[in-house]
Amino acid sequence: MPRRVTSALPNQFGCGIHNTLARSTMSQLSYVGADTSSPWHTYLSQVDRVLPYLGPLARWSETLKRPKRALIVDVPIEMDDGSVAHFEGYRVQHNLSRGPGKGGVRYHPDVTLEEVMALSAWMTVKCAAVNLPYGGAKGGIRVDPKKLSLKELERMTRRYTSEIGIIIGPQQDIPAPDVNTNAQIMAWMMDTYSMNIGGTATGVVTGKPLHLGGSLGRVKATGRGVFVTGREAARRLNLPLEGARIAVQGMGNVGGAAAELFVQAGARLVAVQDHTGTLVNPNGFDIADAMAVLKRDGGIANYREAERIEDEAFWDVDCDILIPAALESQLTPARAARVKAKLVLEGANGPTLPAADDVLAERGILVVPDVICNAGGVTVSYFEWVQDFSSFFWSEDEINLRLDRIMVDALKKIWDTADRHRISLRTATFAVACERILIAREERGLYP
Ligand code: NAD
Repeated sequence: MPRRVTSALPNQFGCGIHNTLARSTMSQLSYVGADTSSPWHTYLSQVDRVLPYLGPLARWSETLKRPKRALIVDVPIEMDDGSVAHFEGYRVQHNLSRGPGKGGVRYHPDVTLEEVMALSAWMTVKCAAVNLPYGGAKGGIRVDPKKLSLKELERMTRRYTSEIGIIIGPQQDIPAPDVNTNAQIMAWMMDTYSMNIGGTATGVVTGKPLHLGGSLGRVKATGRGVFVTGREAARRLNLPLEGARIAVQGMGNVGGAAAELFVQAGARLVAVQDHTGTLVNPNGFDIADAMAVLKRDGGIANYREAERIEDEAFWDVDCDILIPAALESQLTPARAARVKAKLVLEGANGPTLPAADDVLAERGILVVPDVICNAGGVTVSYFEWVQDFSSFFWSEDEINLRLDRIMVDALKKIWDTADRHRISLRTATFAVACERILIAREERGLYP
C-alpha cells in the first residue's frame, strides 16, 4: 500500500492525490502525480531498467527511489510597488551516501516538487557516473523571473537562500546555476549564506563570479562536456565531425557552448530551436552572428540567414547529430520516430521519455544520456569547490584538460559496461553509477 502523507501538500497536486497514489504502483510515494510522462516517473522507470544489473546490491535499490530529504519553503518578498508576493521554493536532497548534495537551482513557472525530485535524483546518478564525491540535490522556485525587477530577483533569491539555509552548506549541499539562474544569483546566495553564518563561505555554491571564488571554464563546462562525449561517440560511430550536421534545441548555457565547439571542430549548425522559434539553414548558421543575436535579443528569432519553420518540424530536420539542450520530456515516441540523426546528445536533463528511448534504440539511433553527456558542468563545479577549499586557482587550460580526461574515462567505462551486458548507454551509466552509490550505502550501513 502506498504510504499516506496527509501533511499540507502544495497546491500543484490539487485534490484527488490519494486516488492518484493508489494507482501509482511505480513509485509508492504519495507526493507524486499520475502523469507517467513526468520526469520523476521517467527516472523511476530508468531505475527499474538497471535493477537486473545490480546483483546483490539490488536489495538497497529502494534507496534510489526515495529522496532522502525534501524541503518546501514559502518565499515572501516585498515587490517594488509595495505589494507582497509569495513564491513556492524547493530544495531536495535525493541521496547523500557518497558526499554532500550537489545540484542547481531553477527559476521557472513550471517548477514542481516532483520535477525537482527527478532533477535531484539525476544529479545523484550523474555525480556517481563521473565518480565525483557528491550526492545529488536540486532546488527551484516556481516563478517567472522575467517578470521580476533586478531588485525583486535579489530579494527573492536572498529569502530563498535563507529559508533553505538550514540544509545547505559547503559540506552538506552545494547549489549551482540551472535554468534561469546565473553567476550573479550564485553571488547573492553565497553572500546571504555567509551573512547568516557570520563569515565568508565561498564553497557553499558553485558557478560564482570569478572574483568571488568562481572557476575559469565553468560557464561553458556543460557544453564542453556535451562536445567531448559527442566527439567520442562520433568517433566510435565512424561519423566524422568535419561536415557533420547538427541540430540544437535550446541555445543557452549548454546548447550554445556545445554548438560553438562543434562548429569549431568543423561541424555545421543546420537547425536551432529556442523559446522564440525554430530556424533552419542547411548550409550552416554563422555561429558568431547567431551568438551575437542571442546575446542581444535573448532568443534566436531575429537571426536573418535562416528560414523560419513550424516548431514541430524541428524533429524532422535532416541532421547527423541532434542535441536537445532545453527542457525535459521533449523526445516523445512520436517525435523519436521522426528523428533523422544518427546520434542524440542529451544536453538537457531528462529530454527523452523511456518509450522514446526504445523507439530510438529500435531505429539504431545512439543516445548519449544526460547523466553522462551533461556531467561537464558538475565536474567543473567540483573543481571550483576544491579550488575554494584550497584557495588556489587553476588555469583554464588545466581545467579543460582535466574535464576532458574525466569525461573520456567515465564514458569509456560506461561504454565497456554497455558492450558487456548489451545494454543502452543510459542503462550502462545507471549501472556504473548505481553500483557506486549502493556500495557506499552498504558500507556506511543503516543508522541506527
Ligand atoms: P538556459 O536558461 O541557459 O537555456 C535554456 C535554453 O532553452 C534557451 O535557449 C531557451 O530559449 C530554450 N528554451 C526554453 N524553453 C524552450 C522551449 N519550450 N522550446 C525550445 N527551447 C526552449 O539553460 P541551460 O543552463 O542551458 O540549461 C538547459 C538544460 O540543460 C536544462 O535541462 C538544464 O537542467 C540542463 N543542464 C544545465 C547545466 C548547466 O550547467 N547550465 C548542467 C547540466 C544540465
